[in-house]
Amino acid sequence: MNHTVGLLWYRSDLRTHDHRALSEAARNHRQVEAVFLISAEQWRSHGVGGNQIDFMLRALASLQHSLRALGVSLQVRAAPRFADAPTAILQVAREVRASAVYAHAEPPLNERRRDQDVGTQLRAAGIQWHLYDDERIVPAGTLRTGSDQPHRRFSSFKRAWLAQVVQNPTGVEQVPSPRPMDPPQAGSEPVPRVLPGFSPTLTDPSAWPATESEANRRLAAFVERAIDRYHQRRDLPAGEATSVLSPYLNFGLISARACLRAVLAHNQGELQSGNPGVTAWVNELIWREFYREIATSFDHVSQHRPFNPTTDWRWPDNESAFAAWQQGRTGIPLVDAGMRQLQQTGWMHNRLRMVCAMFLSKQLLVDWRLGERHFIHHLVDADFSANNGGWQWCAGTGTDAAPYFRVFNPVRQAKRFDPEGVFVRTMLPELDGLTGADVLEPWRLGAEALHRRGYPQPICDLTDARQRALEFYSNAKSATVSANG
Ligand SMILES: Cc1cc2nc3c(=O)[nH]c(=O)nc-3n(C[C@H](O)[C@H](O)[C@H](O)COP(=O)(O)OP(=O)(O)OC[C@H]3O[C@@H](n4cnc5c(N)ncnc54)[C@H](O)[C@@H]3O)c2cc1C
Repeated sequence: MNHTVGLLWYRSDLRTHDHRALSEAARNHRQVEAVFLISAEQWRSHGVGGNQIDFMLRALASLQHSLRALGVSLQVRAAPRFADAPTAILQVAREVRASAVYAHAEPPLNERRRDQDVGTQLRAAGIQWHLYDDERIVPAGTLRTGSDQPHRRFSSFKRAWLAQVVQNPTGVEQVPSPRPMDPPQAGSEPVPRVLPGFSPTLTDPSAWPATESEANRRLAAFVERAIDRYHQRRDLPAGEATSVLSPYLNFGLISARACLRAVLAHNQGELQSGNPGVTAWVNELIWREFYREIATSFDHVSQHRPFNPTTDWRWPDNESAFAAWQQGRTGIPLVDAGMRQLQQTGWMHNRLRMVCAMFLSKQLLVDWRLGERHFIHHLVDADFSANNGGWQWCAGTGTDAAPYFRVFNPVRQAKRFDPEGVFVRTMLPELDGLTGADVLEPWRLGAEALHRRGYPQPICDLTDARQRALEFYSNAKSATVSANG
């Protein structure tokens, strides 16, 4: 250990436990200071909204408190755009006389470029720069195909991921906790409670307590009560069958390693056998890592381009359909229920994300990038990699994309996953009291009854819309094939 100060730069890793950069900084320095940069202009240009910012600010306030107990002070500074980060970090490093800066890598292109620039500037000033890949279980770039390329398909990535974790079980271990350090040089200003222009829109932000202990509580409760039946119930939106840990994972209030350790302990150390609920849940953690690997390895997905370049089509404009979809007023109950869940809670069940995204890009033929941005703006768990991967899967432009002729019928989806309409009724008060087929296909009641209830007529005929989608995709595909030769 040396007597210089280490500066820890927090981003989407807002925790003190199982945190590699904090652990390394505390091992190497007698004193550690921490900083977080508010990049409001940059976030706005990325489409980030108030629900996520509110969660982040509360998580930061809680982090500041936990760090203080370790002898680390957390300062919050402004760097309106990522281009301002090198100067801001250098300035803080000089103020606290840091000899090294520590941080965790983030997958999207702008974040990676920002980190390159910061590293260059720090090194030029004689300050060390340590960037760890700690926000996933298997670090970026570890898994390559036989021809030394990044994996493009989930199935091969998953095989390699499982082999890696089995061969290197130490990669899952908790990193050493930091020892309490010398008291900080200076106190820190409290974290702002709001950022101008980023107000939360969801009904009850307190439903998302933004603390590490809440993340751990959710994980423990999920493992105790729900994981054993996860494989059977994960698609039922009314079932509360999933962990609802995504905002906590995305802001790093809990590490992905901690999640894996908890389920391994529950399944006698087995990853892919034994408890089928555990294997299904681990599969989702691998999807998370896969999409992070895609965002890290393929720059063009961060540049609003489809993963598969042959699907860079022009979608027909349909502004009024897009508006109805955003408001949850398409007249298709399962779609509207999903979109209202997003509006009201800042979160949406995975099955509904798939149904709503596919409905927008296929039945309504609206450019998936508009939907992607709408989700980023409203989700508390908005995450570029998972959101982009999910949207491209649904729109048929991505890695393992759903084939173009696979068009979810939202009524059939509702019959499978919400057959009694329990979830639909919870989200759509206009359909209160309806049962059976009436709640899933309320147009059967007739135009006047729908009007009285204030619920719209369906925005499209599902059979015609499916046919239109098939024709559009098939024509677009053949146009690309002939244009390419
Ligand atoms: C169109 C679309 C958009 C999406 N946007 C996001 C997003 O912005 N942020 C986000 O975190 N997830 C996104 N997902 C993935 C998934 O819907 C959510 O991660 C999941 O619903 C979160 O709920 P949970 O924590 O209860 O998940 P659980 O079922 O408990 O799964 C555990 C964890 O695994 C990860 N995970 C689960 N499913 C997926 C998946 N399909 N892809 C990647 N990771 C997954 C999440 O980190 C999740 O917290 C999107 C999916 C689709 C189809």
